[in-house]
Amino acid sequence: MGAYPFIKGLHDLGNGCYGYLQPNGGWGYSNAGLIEDQGETLLVDTLMDLPLTRDMLDTMKRAVPAAERIGTLLNTHSNPDHTFGNQLVEGAVIISSDACLEEMKELSTPSDDPRGNIRMNWENFGDAGKFFNEVMWTKFSPEGFVQTLPTSTFSGEQTIHVGGKEVRFIEVGPAHTKGDVVVYIPEDRVIFAGDILFMDGHPIIWCGPSQNWIDACDLIMSWDVDVVVPGHGPITDKKGIQGLRDYIEFVQNESRKRYDVGMGYEEAARDIDLGPYADWIDRERIVLNVHLCYTEFGAEAADDRWEVLGAAGRYYFDEQAGTL
Ligand SMILES: [Zn+2]
Repeated sequence: MGAYPFIKGLHDLGNGCYGYLQPNGGWGYSNAGLIEDQGETLLVDTLMDLPLTRDMLDTMKRAVPAAERIGTLLNTHSNPDHTFGNQLVEGAVIISSDACLEEMKELSTPSDDPRGNIRMNWENFGDAGKFFNEVMWTKFSPEGFVQTLPTSTFSGEQTIHVGGKEVRFIEVGPAHTKGDVVVYIPEDRVIFAGDILFMDGHPIIWCGPSQNWIDACDLIMSWDVDVVVPGHGPITDKKGIQGLRDYIEFVQNESRKRYDVGMGYEEAARDIDLGPYADWIDRERIVLNVHLCYTEFGAEAADDRWEVLGAAGRYYFDEQAGTL
């Protein structure tokens, strides 16, 4: 496609579909979507904090008066950068997959949740704390957050109508998270992929199985689609989906070679020549992805996510220092 510049704000995709982009698309800087037809509205995802979400909603209202009242909010998955602004969409029906809701319930408030805990006490979390403080917690506001959960859930697939427009919610997870959903508008040949697509940045396989993510890409490729709004990065088309699919296979293959010769996951991640993916942002995520592939090959998982995030942090800081 290449028709849409990667600049912050609302991009008109035509026929009542809009993508809201947040460069550079790295940690916490997610995209969202708006669909309007005959005065009815659907918002796809909120953002990482209240100021960013408020700014987005104001921008949408200025461009699309019907966005003054959002009728339906769809959370593509549970991650904070797609859900932590939910409370600002007052009066909307909030829809997600059942699995997404379950995952959101595992977090209660930022202060109880280890993500909030690490935010306030990051010095106690070793390399993971140092890393998250640098890439996330110094950049976003925790002020005023009230967890606001989906009020209507489904498994598999759900079709709604926004005005006269058919919109399909299709669950393709577990992959990035436990309950990933993509939004497909057949008549406009548009999809909002959530974090099933990171464009020009390394994705994170938080949950897996990695094969499910490849299957999700194949499913999307089988649809009639011209425009793909990723969860992070610039608007693209099916080529972006193919690129992500290739990346997952690359990580599977490179991990397997190193697993088979007994290399540990952290060493393996640091050993991989990123080749065509060297200029994608957030390269340290290769550590999480190799770890996930290792568990799929039968390796024992790290004790907890923070251990793996610490390893990713070491990759990040060594890369910054030129000592990777
Ligand atoms: Zn995201």
